[in-house]
Amino acid sequence: MSQRYIPVGAPVLAGKEKEYVLDCLDSSWISSQGKYLDLFEESFAAFCGTRHALACSNGTVALHLALMAFDLSPGDEVIVPALTYVATANAVAYCGATPIFVDSEPLTGNINPALIEALITPRTRGIIAVHLYGHPADMDALAAIAKKHDLFLVEDAAEAHGALYRGRKAGSLSDVATFSFYGNKILTCGEGGMLTTDDDKLAAKIELLKGQGMDLQRRYWFSIVGYNYRLTNVAAAIGLAQLEMAEWHLAQHARIIDGYHELLKSCAGITWQQEQSWAKPAHWMFTFFLKKDDESMRDSIMRELLQDGVETRPVFYPLHTLPPYLPGHGTRPLPVCERLARTGINLPTWSGLTRDDIEYVSHHVTKVLARYDA
Ligand SMILES: *Cc1c(COP(=O)(O)O)cnc(C)c1O
Repeated sequence: MSQRYIPVGAPVLAGKEKEYVLDCLDSSWISSQGKYLDLFEESFAAFCGTRHALACSNGTVALHLALMAFDLSPGDEVIVPALTYVATANAVAYCGATPIFVDSEPLTGNINPALIEALITPRTRGIIAVHLYGHPADMDALAAIAKKHDLFLVEDAAEAHGALYRGRKAGSLSDVATFSFYGNKILTCGEGGMLTTDDDKLAAKIELLKGQGMDLQRRYWFSIVGYNYRLTNVAAAIGLAQLEMAEWHLAQHARIIDGYHELLKSCAGITWQQEQSWAKPAHWMFTFFLKKDDESMRDSIMRELLQDGVETRPVFYPLHTLPPYLPGHGTRPLPVCERLARTGINLPTWSGLTRDDIEYVSHHVTKVLARYDA
C-alpha cells in the first residue's frame, strides 16, 4: 500500500465555518431556528436567482418535499434518469409512486430528452432532471416536454451548485429544484439540503411540510401530516460560510478538471463527459470512461489505483438494475447508461487537491491504463 492516500472527496472548510459555528455555540442557537438559517436561505436564493430558498435536512428529503408539494401519490409515475444517485428514485418511491427510468444521452450521461415522450402515459405526473456530475441536463428540451404534457419539472441539482445552463443558474430552471450539502458535494453543511423555487404557493407548501405541518400563523395547530425535515442553525452556519466561498470552490473544481484533461489527454483508451456549448458545468466530480467495455477490467484498474493511494468510485449503477427497482424495469435494457456505468471511474475532485496531487493521480492513472493496454 502506498504511503500517500488521496480520497475521492473531502470537505474543505476554508472560510468562516468555525467562526459561525462558534457563534451558534456561544449564543446557544443550535436548533432549527436562528440567523444562520435565515442568511443561508436568503443568500442561496440570491445565488440561484430564485424568489425562494428553503433549507432542509438533506438532499434526499429535499426531493421528497418537492414531490409532496405536487401531491405525488400512489399510482402516479415520474420520469427519472436511470443514471443518477439512488435518492432521485427513492423520493418517488416514498410517495408510493413509480419511477420510470430513461436512458442517458452518450455525451454527458444526462437524461436523453428524445426518449421521454414514448414513456409518457396517463399516469405520468412529472419529470426529474439530474445535472449529472455537475453538467446541466438539456433543460429547454425537458421544459418543452413538460409543458406539452402538463407535467411538473423538478431539477435534482445536488451535484450542480453554481452550474449554468444557457447562462441561467441551476436551481432556477424548473418548477422546484433541490440541492444537497452532503460532505462530498461542491458546498457542504455536513448533512443538509435546499429547495429553490419562484412559486410562492409551492414554497408555502414546502415550508408547511418540512415543519411538521404546523400552521405558519397558528402555533401548534397541525393542519396536515407533516415531517420534521428541518436543518439546524449549526449546519446552516457551515453552509453559509461555504456559500460565501462558492466562486472559489467552483474555481478549484474547474482547475482540477482542467488539470485532468491536460494530463490525461494522451491516454487513447479513455473518454470523458463532453461539455456542451450551452453548458458551464459545476464540475462536481471528474469522470472518465474506458473505451473497452469490460467491467472486470474497470474494477481491477480501480483496485490498482487504490494500491497506489488513489481512491476512486465507480459511476452509479443504473437504478433499473438495483433490487428495489428491478421488477418491471430490469427487463427493459437501457444500453447507453449501462455501458457508461460499466466503464466509468470517478477520480478525486475536491477543492483541497494541489497541483501535485492532480499530477500524482494522473501519473498513476496513466501508468495503470498502460498496463491494461487501455
Ligand atoms: C447527493 C445526491 C442526492 C442526495 O443528497 P443527500 O444530501 O445525500 O441526501 C440526491 N441526488 C443526487 C443526484 C445526489 O448526487
